[in-house]
Amino acid sequence: MSEEIREINRRLKQHFGEAPRPEKQSGVDYLVETILSQNTNDINRDKAFKKLKEYYESWEDVESADREELTDVIRVAGLGPTKAERIQESLRITREEVGEYNLDFLNDLSIEDAKTWLEDIPGIGPKTAAIILCFHFDRPVIPVDTHVHRVSKRLGLIPESTSRKKAHKLLDEKVPDDIKYEFHRLLIEYGRKYCKARHPKCMEGPLSDLCEAHNRKEK
Ligand code: SF4
Repeated sequence: MSEEIREINRRLKQHFGEAPRPEKQSGVDYLVETILSQNTNDINRDKAFKKLKEYYESWEDVESADREELTDVIRVAGLGPTKAERIQESLRITREEVGEYNLDFLNDLSIEDAKTWLEDIPGIGPKTAAIILCFHFDRPVIPVDTHVHRVSKRLGLIPESTSRKKAHKLLDEKVPDDIKYEFHRLLIEYGRKYCKARHPKCMEGPLSDLCEAHNRKEK
């Protein structure tokens, strides 16, 4: 399986080019930004994050902000009240447990312990935890968003019935560590451009001969 995954990765890289490197920002930035990204697109997430950073001078100010005001500041990302609560809760937990708004201690933990610490924060699931560990700490963990989940199932890398949570575990085992980050980025590009939820454009992309779902249809 790992050779097949390397071949998929190689073709996607040839097709789309190198995956962009993650932005340089702090672990707490990633934590807050990823909460903002839940159930919205990248454009609205970025607008909300920019507005939040412009509006407040520090994470302390965000944590102690009036909840309605914070909800209003991040409104463009949708689910304002829920996200405002999650952001303030995650900042409170970080400050109380770490003593500052800093997640660098996660680098000293095993991947499993770091995931557990993050996922114990209300509203933080395996994807958010994986994004922080993979993007900020460069740890070998693969975030599974809706595109990675759908494409992996169609390609036959994981069984069709696999939940998103289980997919994290399976893909963490199957995808070689050195390509986890780029495989994640490339599958998202592929999912957006070709393997759409409805009407996948199988013959236009570079993976049709490797795809279980496509080959099933062809028979
Ligand atoms: S061949 Fe079709 S179904 Fe398979 S991964 Fe590509 S676009 Fe998706």
